[in-house]
Amino acid sequence: MHSEIAVVGGGAIGATAAADLAAKGFHVTLYEKGDLAAGSSGRAAGVCYDAFADRTDATIGSRSLERFRELSNVFTEWPYVWFAHTDDEKRASAIRRQAKRMRDLGRDVTLVEPTELGERFPGLKTNDINVAAMTHGAGYANTTEYVEVMVDRARQNGASVQTETPVELTTDPPGIVSDGGEQLFDAVLVAGGAHTKRILATGNVSIPMKPYRVQALVTEATPTTESVPMCYDATDSYYFRPYEDGLLIGDGTERVESNPDEWNRAADEEFVEKMRGHLDDRIPDKLEVRDTWAGLCTATPDGDPLFGEIRSGVFVATGFHGHGFMRAPALGEHIAEQILGGDGVSRFDPTRFDGSETFDIIAGMDIE
Ligand SMILES: Cc1cc2nc3c(=O)[nH]c(=O)nc-3n(C[C@H](O)[C@H](O)[C@H](O)COP(=O)(O)OP(=O)(O)OC[C@H]3O[C@@H](n4cnc5c(N)ncnc54)[C@H](O)[C@@H]3O)c2cc1C
Repeated sequence: MHSEIAVVGGGAIGATAAADLAAKGFHVTLYEKGDLAAGSSGRAAGVCYDAFADRTDATIGSRSLERFRELSNVFTEWPYVWFAHTDDEKRASAIRRQAKRMRDLGRDVTLVEPTELGERFPGLKTNDINVAAMTHGAGYANTTEYVEVMVDRARQNGASVQTETPVELTTDPPGIVSDGGEQLFDAVLVAGGAHTKRILATGNVSIPMKPYRVQALVTEATPTTESVPMCYDATDSYYFRPYEDGLLIGDGTERVESNPDEWNRAADEEFVEKMRGHLDDRIPDKLEVRDTWAGLCTATPDGDPLFGEIRSGVFVATGFHGHGFMRAPALGEHIAEQILGGDGVSRFDPTRFDGSETFDIIAGMDIE
């Protein structure tokens, strides 16, 4: 049992864990090197669902949605649809198989005929769709507001929140080094997003994790917003969702390791042109681009997070392959319980690797 706990990282994972730990009456100090949500969480699309074909992922997704629904000022319920094109039988078959498996796991997922999809969502062109699956319990969130709400909860329960405070790690015993010197804790959670590998390295802990760049674009307001679901096009590998009064469309995965301190925060022109083409094919309105950006996701050798105790009293949460925000409410809660002595998620055990592994980056949403 730990009572003085440091959480490194004021993103969705760190903020949720801090809120849950503080609510249980523990002394929590949250360290954030910049502003809250300044990392990937503040750049995320905020798409949230529990449509996973694996039991562990589906359970985590479902618990997260339960917690998101309690935050009606931050979270909007909205259907999520994913589909393959008529000339893509391979992914169409994969979607059929996935949908069945998801239903077997109790998820609210149905296959929808393309004509029916077009009738339900007139803002969507469906003539080239082969197979579409839909889930109703999904939604989208304002990611920065989510982090702020969690940090407010942590503060209300006595947590100390130190922004503009970059820290390093010490191990054995666990502690934190900041400008203010070294401080020991009963437990330290490192949820530093793309910097997690570097933060752990300061305490001589090695993990196999690679940050990689993904991109997003938002459009000016469009009447279509109200009549499209959130979508993932499995054939062309991009997603979109209603965003303010327009649409947010994204992916643009760069399958090379990025330097978390030095990377291009603007979207590539090539990505913008490609997304414009996809919007023209899929949405009847002419949509003007309002903003674009890039951000970092984190990859591991097997596509699963590194999540749990990695050294005595040192916990890690990273490697979410573009699905970290939607899982934050459940994973933040879970890691808080684990720090307090509960069981971890065995498949995500960070000690399954020794940190020296070489691997290629697999993007999180690909359907093969
Ligand atoms: C364009 C884009 C779209 C995305 N869309 C989605 C989506 O729709 N749904 C989804 O589930 N996920 C999405 N993701 C992924 C999601 O953003 C991440 O998985 C999630 O935000 C990870 O949260 P985190 O708390 O682990 O990391 P972060 O939000 O990166 O938080 C880590 C924090 O640690 C801080 N930090 C780093 N080093 C230090 C240090 N030395 N000391 C103190 N603090 C430090 C950073 O400043 C940062 O604020 C998207 C990502 C991008 C870039």
